[in-house]
Amino acid sequence: MNSDLKQASSEKFRRLEAGCRASGLSLTHQRRALLHCLAQRSDHPTADQLYDELKSDVGGLSRTTVYRILDTFVRVGLVSKISSPQAKARFDADMGRHHHIVCEQCGKVADLFDSDFNLRGLPENNSSGFTVHNYEITFNGLCPLCQKIGKENES
Ligand SMILES: [Zn+2]
Ligand SMILES: [Zn+2]
Repeated sequence: MNSDLKQASSEKFRRLEAGCRASGLSLTHQRRALLHCLAQRSDHPTADQLYDELKSDVGGLSRTTVYRILDTFVRVGLVSKISSPQAKARFDADMGRHHHIVCEQCGKVADLFDSDFNLRGLPENNSSGFTVHNYEITFNGLCPLCQKIGKENES
């Protein structure tokens, strides 16, 4: 990891820690470990991926605990949950408005920052009868690696 990235992720970690305290959550060893992991990764890991990364370092951590802690983070608004109907939920510690793009080939999820796609508001009175809390836009496409593999297979 280069030093810029390292600095960005440690700032993110401090912001998350502060957010945790501000929400009245005690910073347990396990919560800190998860926040640290989320601050470092920008690949929108699933709960299972986070568990796999942490299980050897964090004593007594179970898969259930990881799920429970993530749910708590989502509930207090520290982390957002990106859910797609076919896939496992992924978690994102970047709460600024942004969108996602999913690779149709390998399933990689990347951030897509383009404020042109931000809605000005939510559809308050809509025919579904739902109250609307939030939205997310997910684009599909091919990631750079899969584009490269596709080109190599053509030639
Ligand atoms: Zn791909
Ligand atoms: Zn994201």
